[in-house]
Amino acid sequence: MSSDTSDQSTVDNPEPVPDTTESALATARHQLERAASLLDIDPNVVERFRYPDVVHEVTIPIERDDGGVEVFRGYRAQHDSVRGPYKGGIRFHPHVSREECIGLSMWMTWKCAVMDIPFGGAKGGVVVDPKDLSDGERERLTRRFTDEIRNVIGPTTDIPAPDMGTDAETMSWMMDAYSMQEAETIPGVVTGKPPVIGGSEGRAGAPGRSVAIIAREVAEYYDSPLAESTVAVQGFGSVGANAARLLDDWGATVVAVSDVTGAAYDPDGLDTRAVPSHEEQPEAVARSADRTIGNDELLALDVDLLVPAAVGNAITEANAADVRADVIVEGANGPVTFAAGEILAERGVPVIPDILANAGGVTVSYFEWLQDINRRAWSEERVNEELETEMLAAWDAVRTEFERGDASWRDAAYAVALGRLAEAHEARGLWP
Ligand code: GLU
Repeated sequence: MSSDTSDQSTVDNPEPVPDTTESALATARHQLERAASLLDIDPNVVERFRYPDVVHEVTIPIERDDGGVEVFRGYRAQHDSVRGPYKGGIRFHPHVSREECIGLSMWMTWKCAVMDIPFGGAKGGVVVDPKDLSDGERERLTRRFTDEIRNVIGPTTDIPAPDMGTDAETMSWMMDAYSMQEAETIPGVVTGKPPVIGGSEGRAGAPGRSVAIIAREVAEYYDSPLAESTVAVQGFGSVGANAARLLDDWGATVVAVSDVTGAAYDPDGLDTRAVPSHEEQPEAVARSADRTIGNDELLALDVDLLVPAAVGNAITEANAADVRADVIVEGANGPVTFAAGEILAERGVPVIPDILANAGGVTVSYFEWLQDINRRAWSEERVNEELETEMLAAWDAVRTEFERGDASWRDAAYAVALGRLAEAHEARGLWP
């Protein structure tokens, strides 16, 4: 499920087909309303958070390899920029829609605020299955899409990054297409590029690393250190494979990992490096395994930590009652629907939210942007150290909020994010 050429949650490649009964926008709005009802935040500011600042919709004609012209639809939703330039990924996926981009852009606003990095929230995408395109067609699509949104992106206005179905190569084409039109090389216009053109060391592994760091802290918090914990990971792409392998290195027993073909399962613990990630060999998890189970069974395993790191809406009201894990750590964006979240809360299963757990991606994007504007590269060691520091600071802020009352982990993360955002809106005021 995760294409690891794809970034995070990006985690991911286009499959499996998610449950679409609750749109990302519906989930995001429900979560916002719930958190706002528990918090002392100016309702006028909350009202503004319900809507994106603007959604750009573009038409992208490209020449197919057979000489015919095909027209695709693309979006860039810009939700809020009170704390800094809009920031967020670009998806190439058949389920991309205006609504999905808006919902995902809201999550980016909260994610950057939870991490206390000076960016706002955006998300974009093209309605396309990249598997249907040749390399040349993907390149032409990326370049033309970049040109169509050229006036609304830029290193100080809106900075795209990889997401589902896009990767470092896509970001190279975006950076090049933008730079050629501006007549100067502008690496800071996108993040998630290859290091040779201003990308950051450690960026590709960052979302999975942050999931592993947060999982480690959560395990300690619930008195079940990693060495005594079992873990199941849905999705073995950028997020899932990096998280599973780090947790394995740090002593956890990873009993199951999956991709769209099914899950490799070993109750005594898998050798996570022997299972090919999506990047190493797409859709090869089940083929490489001695013992397999289905994705449904993986989600219902009796483990200490369950990490859904594949697609949105993996855990819905249809299967939330089957979850037997002690704790869920969200690797993908929006893997637990609002309705499923209510069922899990009633059952006492803590859900550590995406806007904290997978925020390592955008955090290292911020490091990449700093490196680009300073024209100075950091070592991978420095990136990982600074990521660890930022993740622990965000974890401390969210944990402190969680311990104040009986709100969920998601509510606590929203409290941190909305508090910072509301303060910024109040300080700047409403224009004109
Ligand atoms: N697509 C990633 C996310 O959902 C990263 C976004 C970024 O780095 O801007 O968090």
